[in-house]
This record gives sequence, structure tokens and C-alpha cells, in this order.
Amino acid sequence: MAASDTPILLLNAPLVANRLGYPDLSGLDLLELFAFVHPARFCTPTPKGLAHALGLPEAKSDDCVPQLLQQAAGVLLGSCADPAWPERAGAWSTLQSLARLRWPWAQVLAHHVAKPEKAEKWLFSTLPEWEVSPERPQPAQVLIGEEEIAAQLSRLTGEGAEQREGQRDYARDVGGIFAPRGQKGKPHLLLAQAGTGIGKTLGYLAPTSLWSGAAQGTVWVSTFTKNLQRQLRRESRRAWPERRSDGSPPVVVRKGRENYLCLLNLEDALQGGFAGRPAVLAQLVARWAAYSQDGDMIGGDLPGWLGTLFRKRGIAALTDQRGECIYAGCPHYRKCFIERAARDSAQADLVIANHALVMINAARSGTRDPAQRPTRIIFDEGHHVFEAADSTFAAALTGQECIELRRWLMGPERNSRGRRRGLAARLSDVASYDDAAGIAVADAIAAAEALPGDGWLQRLNDGESFGPIEALLGAVRAATYARDESGGQELGYGIETEVAGLDGPIVQIAGEAQEALAAIRQPLLRLAVRLESILQDPPDWLDGQGRARIEGARHSLAWRIDLIAAWEALLSRLGGPADPEFVDWLAVDRSEAREYDVGIHRRWLDPMKPFARTVLEPAHGVMLTSATLTDRGAEGAEWDSAIARSGALHIDVAPSLGSAISPFDYASNAEVLIVTDIRKGDIPALSGAYARLIEAAGGGVLGLFTAIRRLRAVHGRIADRLAREGLPLFAQHVDPIDTGTLVDIFRDDPLASLLGTDALRDGVDVPGNSLRCVVMEQVPWPKPNILHRARRAAAKETPGGGKAFDDRIIRAKLAQACGRLIRSRDDRGHFVVLSSAFPSRLLTAFPPGTPIIRLGLEEALQRVAAGVHPAADTALHPAAPADE
Ligand code: SF4
Repeated sequence: MAASDTPILLLNAPLVANRLGYPDLSGLDLLELFAFVHPARFCTPTPKGLAHALGLPEAKSDDCVPQLLQQAAGVLLGSCADPAWPERAGAWSTLQSLARLRWPWAQVLAHHVAKPEKAEKWLFSTLPEWEVSPERPQPAQVLIGEEEIAAQLSRLTGEGAEQREGQRDYARDVGGIFAPRGQKGKPHLLLAQAGTGIGKTLGYLAPTSLWSGAAQGTVWVSTFTKNLQRQLRRESRRAWPERRSDGSPPVVVRKGRENYLCLLNLEDALQGGFAGRPAVLAQLVARWAAYSQDGDMIGGDLPGWLGTLFRKRGIAALTDQRGECIYAGCPHYRKCFIERAARDSAQADLVIANHALVMINAARSGTRDPAQRPTRIIFDEGHHVFEAADSTFAAALTGQECIELRRWLMGPERNSRGRRRGLAARLSDVASYDDAAGIAVADAIAAAEALPGDGWLQRLNDGESFGPIEALLGAVRAATYARDESGGQELGYGIETEVAGLDGPIVQIAGEAQEALAAIRQPLLRLAVRLESILQDPPDWLDGQGRARIEGARHSLAWRIDLIAAWEALLSRLGGPADPEFVDWLAVDRSEAREYDVGIHRRWLDPMKPFARTVLEPAHGVMLTSATLTDRGAEGAEWDSAIARSGALHIDVAPSLGSAISPFDYASNAEVLIVTDIRKGDIPALSGAYARLIEAAGGGVLGLFTAIRRLRAVHGRIADRLAREGLPLFAQHVDPIDTGTLVDIFRDDPLASLLGTDALRDGVDVPGNSLRCVVMEQVPWPKPNILHRARRAAAKETPGGGKAFDDRIIRAKLAQACGRLIRSRDDRGHFVVLSSAFPSRLLTAFPPGTPIIRLGLEEALQRVAAGVHPAADTALHPAAPADE
């Protein structure tokens, strides 16, 4: 009632509303003010985080927070009046627009932001243009010596830093991948197990920086998590300056285009494309764009919380999600963040990217764009390469994918906002000057009418599908519901079924859908051929802009043609004999019983096969490294599965193997507690155990779940109780905050605990006191889906068979989760698994020497409350695995 009467001062309104159980709450949110006053600056969205960001003393207790919020507002408003305010440029103009949008802070700020004497420039004219650079010559063939590497490592770690033997050997091994390649198609391949704490980042940056300097070549370091990308960007500063003398950046973070702000979309949004709250977001994003380092909206310098203050869709609509870019036809092309990142990376010494992007670049650049092809690659978090290859080389003919293709071809649906940017708009000049190209574009667009359009899911539900592809999806949906026996239907989960044994009618419908897809692909092929010949033999009307536009369209055209061809191949096998290389299935994707996609899926049985062909074969040197690259069975580190999962066998290369053991003293600093008296499926008992463990540890608990449903159930039962005790509990899938920000909050508050699922299992790097205990709700058994069953069956031929295959997966998950606990030499803590049946053969997942104790909850609580001390009574609890 108070909030609806008077605008009140708040911090993170959506979170406060969520905590109070209201659907919506508005007021004067200090985070919005912060985003206006200090765009592109980091701030953890908590009272403590805000105090740190503004240089204020922390609130001593919750009671003091209201006063802190008032002080913070005062400091922020005071900054605007300060002549030295670094982010003054553009503020007054943006404020005028925000006032018209009735942003609550606008009235307050009006008294503090002075009108500039000269009219301010519009954002789009202030952003710098990227330079056109000549192509970099191919890298020189150089050899880097062991001593050079050791000296570079000492330089990077700093004078006086402790010399770490493991790190030195590791850096020397990495140097080997940069040696000149002896045979085409056979890169130097290194698999390097690097225990936590050996200093692997600097270990590989040392030889990388030496080689890139001497050879004038680019090294790609690929990660799976954004967190590691941030860390790499920081650490790379030791080896490279921010800018070279010519102003170009030697280190570039490169992400998929859907991560970056599209200036054309922003311009649309600012000029009426967005209304209400999203329009306020667009103004704050425009403020940020003027100060951003690289325009990266997801995990870059745009605060992760900004999108959630305004609902996430707003951010997504400002990126280039659907490949609608019009390249040189765009008025902002020369300032475009995406184009800048692509150009900078071709000239960079170090490109920091993610696994999927490296694989896509390797697959798409080919001979067409060698400057973008990664040839020296370090896959950090290398245990995720298999998973990344699995999704990168997958094919899925689903309703959502079809909608994307339809929009790319035809532009957004008629009744949606924004400009129409279908294929015809992107190639309007070509289509009007060149008859053959014009006809091809028109034919493709006409054929695209056969693709599902908006409202397709509802039509499927009503049995009123429109066109051959919707008809196919309708049949897929019906077959999946008819055959599914997983129990997922009742629980609201997604359901799936194999493609085997489909009846005649569905095979016939698939044939018709295949023809409809071919009718789209054929004119696109004609168009691609036409564009090639226009580029080779340029007509008079083709100016520089037109050429660049065709270049851009050519790439996106090529991969759409490949995509449709893959769909046709998928359909052609329905009803026929199964291809042993692939696993195909039908699925209805659902979340909380709501359907959101329907389709046919295809995965490689072994995705390292296409990986080896597209990534390894053209490369000169590749390393996969991780703390959990190898499995640890009864006999110690087992390399066979790591080698198989590197793709080496498919190109007939024997990889070099390296192993550096963690210097951390797990025996003294960690304890694994297996709590045996919580029954599986007993949610009240599970919730009680979590609450009591969090109380015993006094917060600082990371709780890991294998199912969102259980996570929510546990959170719902214990969050209030813990909050009353001053132990805040945050949760993925519950709190309206992005995962990165949740981890920032958790890191910042030693009393806080965090619940989450897979993304937290190995994306969290919280050294120090904030993380004292990791609790897993159960043994992380693999999900028994069709894909897993097929791979498990294929593993029958390997030593240990399907059981060993499952065990490897579980041990890897346990090792990753346990790896969250000890991140620095002084970290201590407990790893707790709530499992009444924890097989002994899985215990080797934990670092050698770690005490492992099976016990009841009460005893576990005592141990957690007592903490782990250096002189722990390990003699009583030997390091060897306890009995089952
Ligand atoms: S060039 Fe493409 S991605 Fe860049 S701003 Fe223009 S339309 Fe957006």
C-alpha cells in the first residue's frame, strides 16, 4: 500500500516483489539510477554491493539498510552535479527522453543534471568506426624454447611469486602445440590434466604470448563458462597491453552474435519500437552503449541485473538473435560492435571465445574466410568439449527452428513491431538489378509460406495445422504422446520417443514436408550461385556497399542452405533403416506442463567425429585442458576415455598427455560427508536437511540439484525460515536474477547460500570464506533419455561396458561439483552428498587423500558446524573409501 501511494526507495524491485509475493512492484529503484549515472560499471545488486561501488561504509545490520539506500541515492545524485562526472556526455539528452517516458527518477534527476552548453551528439554519431585492416599474413613457423617459456612464465607470475614446478612443466608441455606441424591434417594435440590451483591460465598464456608475438599469429582460447572468459580477460593483461601502438587490441573476447547489441535494433527501439518500461530499458542501454568496451550484453560490461529489472525479452530484442543483420546496408555498419569484434579478432594475438563459437567458426569459415578460422586452439574447461560438440553438430527440425528460418526469409510477422528485414529487404538492390537473383528471392519467399508461422503451437493443439510442415509437427506430437511411457506426461516434463517403427501416414507426411523444404532450398541455391557470379564478375551497379552486403548475405545463405539440407536428410530416413552414426528421436519440449516446442532431433552417436573433421584436422596445434579431463577409476587416472572424447582417434593422431597434480592439501582442508539417512524422494526430509546444513554452516552453502522441481520445492519450504535467521537464500529458477549475478551476490555475502542446477556445478569460482560447504541432493545419475541409452548401448563394446560408461559420467559430475569447494590454498570446507545408497566405486571421483565419511544427518551437522581444521582427526576417518 505504501509503495502504491508514494514512490519508495528500493533496491532491485523485482527481487523485493518476489520476496513479498507480489507480481509487480515499482518505485525508485536505485539499480536503475546506478545504471543511468554509471553505465558500464560493475555493481553487485545488494546493499553491500552498492555501498562498495559507491565507496560508502557497509550497513552494519539490516536495520541500517534504509539509511544506506538514502545515502546511496544522495551520492549518485551528487555525482551528477559534480563537474568531474566521467559519464556526463549524453546524460542530459537521455534524461529528456526518460522524462517523456515518465521514468520515476527523471523528475528527481532533473534538478541535478545540468543542460550542456552545446547540443549533445546523438549516440550513433559518437561511437567510433572500426578500421579496415589488411589481411594478416599466415603465421611464421617458429620454435619456442623451454627456457624462453620458463622466463616468460616468471615474468607473468611476477617477481617473488612462488615457483611452482607443476606449472612450469605444464607451460613447457603447452609450448609443444605451437611447433610447426609435420603432416597435413595431423595437428599437435595435447591433453593436459591440470589439478585445481596449479595456475593453468598463466601456464598456457606464457607460451601463447611468446608464440603469437614471434609468429604474428592468433591463438584462440576457448572456454565453456563466461566466468572463465572474464578471468582470462583479466589475466591476459599481464602478457599484453590493452592496445597496441596502432590502437588495435591484441586481446579480443569473441562471442556469438546474439550476445552483442545490434545498433539498428536499438535505434528502432529508441524511435518508438519499444513502449512503456522496455522503452526505458532502451534508453538505459543507449547510455551504456556509449561507454561499453565491446557492446557485449550478456556477460560483458552491461550489468547482468539490468535486463531482469525490465524483463529479459527486452535485452534479447536488442541483440541480433535471428540473423536479420543487413550488413553494409545498415547505417551503423561501420560502428557495429559485432563487425568490430570479428575484424579485431582477425588481427588479434589472443581471441577468447567459447567452445561452440570456435566449432562454428571452424565449420563455417573453411576456405571462404581463412582469417576467421582457428588454427591454434586451447580448449580450457576441456571436459565440456564433447558436450559442446554434441549440440553444435546436432540437427533439429522443430517448430521454433522453422519460425526462425521463416523470419529470416520473410521478415517478422506482419503484426509485429519494427522494420521488416526479410531476405527481400536485405538483398533489395540485387533483386531489382539482377533478374535471376530477383526471381530466386521471390521463389524462396513464396516457398517459405509452407513453414510454420505464429500461432503454430495453438493450431497443433487444436488439430488445425496449416501446411505440410505444421502437419508433420502435428503428427510428431501425436506419435510422441501416443508412445511415451516415461511418466513425464503426468509430471509436466518434456517427452520423447524413438523414430523407429513410425507408421505409414507419418512417413508420407514427412515426405511431403521434405518436398516443401526442398522447394525452399532450391531457389536459395540458385541465389547463392548467382551471388557468387555477381561477386566474381561485378556488374556496373555494384558499389562497395552492395558488395559488402552480398558478402554478408552469402555466408548466412550458405549455412541456411546447409541447415535445410540437414533437415531433408533427417526426414528422408524416417521409416527407413536407422543410420548407425546418428541417434534420432521425436520430442515435445515442455516446461511445467506447457509445451514450447515440437520436433525431430538428430545427434551424432559420437560428436567427436565431426569435431575431429572440422576443428582438429585443419588445425596446427590444439590442447584440451581441465582439472577433470580424465576419469579416476580404481587404478588412478584413466586416459582412454579422455583420448576417445578428444576426437584424436578419428584423425589417427596419438595425443601427448600431461598431468599436473593439484598442490592443495585436500586431506587437511576438505571432508566428504555421505549422509545416509535421508530417503530419496522425501521432500520434507530433504528440505529439513538443507535448512539444517545451512544453519550449521552459518550460510556459505552451495546447494546443487538435478531437478528444478525439487530445487523449487526445497527453496519454498526453507527460504523464509533461513531469512528470519539472517541467512539469505538465493536460488536459480526462483529469483528473478541472472545466474552470473546470483553468483556475484553469493560471493559477496558470506552469510548467503545459493541453490542451483547444472550451470552452477562447474561455473562457480568462489574462493575464500563465502563457499564453505557444497551439498548435493543425490548421486547425479545420468538422465535416462533416448540419447543416453544409445550411447550407453554403444559403450557395451568398451571395457566395463554400459555400467562403466555411466560411472564415468557420474564421477565427472561429482569431481566438478567437489571442485567448487577448494579454490585456493586456504579454502576449507565440506562436500555433502545426501544419498542412502552411494556406491563405493564412485568414491574415486574425490581428490586423493580427502577423508570420506558415511554418517547420519545429526553427525554430519556437528561436523559441518565444527568446520574443517588443518589438524582434522583424519586418523579416525581414513582417506580410503568407507564401506558401502
Ligand atoms: S550491421 Fe547488422 S548487427 Fe550491426 S548494427 Fe547493423 S543490423 Fe545490427
